[in-house]
Amino acid sequence: MATISLERVKELLGQENERFVRERPRSRALFEEAKKNLVGGVPMSWMRIWSGGFPVFVEKAQGVYITDVDGHRYLDLCLGDTGGLCGHAHPKIVEAITDQMVNRGTTTMLPTQDCIWVGKELERRFGLPFWQVLMTATDANRMALKIARSFTGRQLILAFNGTYHGSVDETLVVNFFGELINVPGMLGPIVPDATKMTRVIDFNDVDALEQALAPGDIACVITEPVMTNIGIIAPEKGYHEALRDITKKYGTLLLIDETHSMCAGPRGVTGQMGLTPDIFVAGKFIAGGYPAAILGFTSELSDWLGQRLPWHNFFGFGGTLSGNATAVAGIRAALEHVINEENYDRMTRLAQRMEEGLARIIKDNDLAWYVARIGCRVEFRFLPKPPKNGSEALFAEVDYNEVDIVTEGLTGPLDALIHVWCANRGILLTPVHEMALVGPTATREDVDHYVDTIGALVRELLG
Ligand code: PMP
Repeated sequence: MATISLERVKELLGQENERFVRERPRSRALFEEAKKNLVGGVPMSWMRIWSGGFPVFVEKAQGVYITDVDGHRYLDLCLGDTGGLCGHAHPKIVEAITDQMVNRGTTTMLPTQDCIWVGKELERRFGLPFWQVLMTATDANRMALKIARSFTGRQLILAFNGTYHGSVDETLVVNFFGELINVPGMLGPIVPDATKMTRVIDFNDVDALEQALAPGDIACVITEPVMTNIGIIAPEKGYHEALRDITKKYGTLLLIDETHSMCAGPRGVTGQMGLTPDIFVAGKFIAGGYPAAILGFTSELSDWLGQRLPWHNFFGFGGTLSGNATAVAGIRAALEHVINEENYDRMTRLAQRMEEGLARIIKDNDLAWYVARIGCRVEFRFLPKPPKNGSEALFAEVDYNEVDIVTEGLTGPLDALIHVWCANRGILLTPVHEMALVGPTATREDVDHYVDTIGALVRELLG
């Protein structure tokens, strides 16, 4: 296997950081100005995690390109970490949202006709018959867990190690060598004993699942159908069938969160694999990046909710209405015009090309890395093979950082280098991991530019 020297990584990182700062005086000045009133110099904390010392400030974002205030144009492979997966400022979505806002109103505490079309379409795609439209997937997950607890009369939630479902307290815990702790770096749940709230096991482990649910005290299993947030971890053959059978056997509800995995296709992994959850959540790009989330239920849950009059017992269901009419219009436009087979065929073909290009670089240079893909989402990681579950993914990283050589924190500087190297060559790659999303208007040339850029960096590193 090829060895990358930490010294070389740090040397290149220094050069690239220096270039990044030199070529972006306007963004840098705005960042300094922003620091005076915005926490960390940004309106939302996620924007603080870009390499280079500060985020570039956006002049405009259109399709899969972003132009910054210094005049640099980037291919956007981050796409708002999925929120922008329909492409920025998609004309059809903008038209529908603008029409709603300008001519019909944003929030009225009343339904609009679009919700009829949206409800039917969501049933057609995902199988569940009853729906609510909320504003964020975090909120939808929070509400879903509340409902599950109330419905089952049980307190505990089961989550998989290394998962992320938004800032949902129940899932901001990690099983660290047998001890349940707050996810490092997150403002974790403030409860005296997290084991009273969440049980955490590993994905793809049927025996552990059976054991965890057997006491009959778990209200709900919350999971992505394919894990994404600890790196892509695919379900093993038969895992979803076992998950459904075992949850049913012990009276536990199954919540599938497709917020990220809808990059697999217009019906998500749920539609593709014919999964039958009790509760379904998706968000982010479901209205083309306008705040919106969908929360689906079985008839049984919907009936139960409907009987719980007065309905205002459920206040807090996705905040208090703001932007709901616009969200419904945006969801309709996104589903009708963008989140469709035709676009996904194209995006997936291009993502396959990207995957093959990266795999070739890894093979030709004998790197101990792997590349993984779901639909139009492609990532490579500094591990020799894909982990089977979150613990493997987490602890492999820990080993790598703490024990291995190449080590002494190579992952950190190497990750930073890849991102700033890409930014200096007109590509924005999703921060923190090497994850690229191929949007609807991306081209072959865009994909090749990214693959060539990574290839050139690897040559510099090994050369
Ligand atoms: N679920 C999953 C699987 C996610 O990855 C995220 C955010 N990355 C969320 C939910 C939260 O989404 P939102 O920003 O809409 O709250």
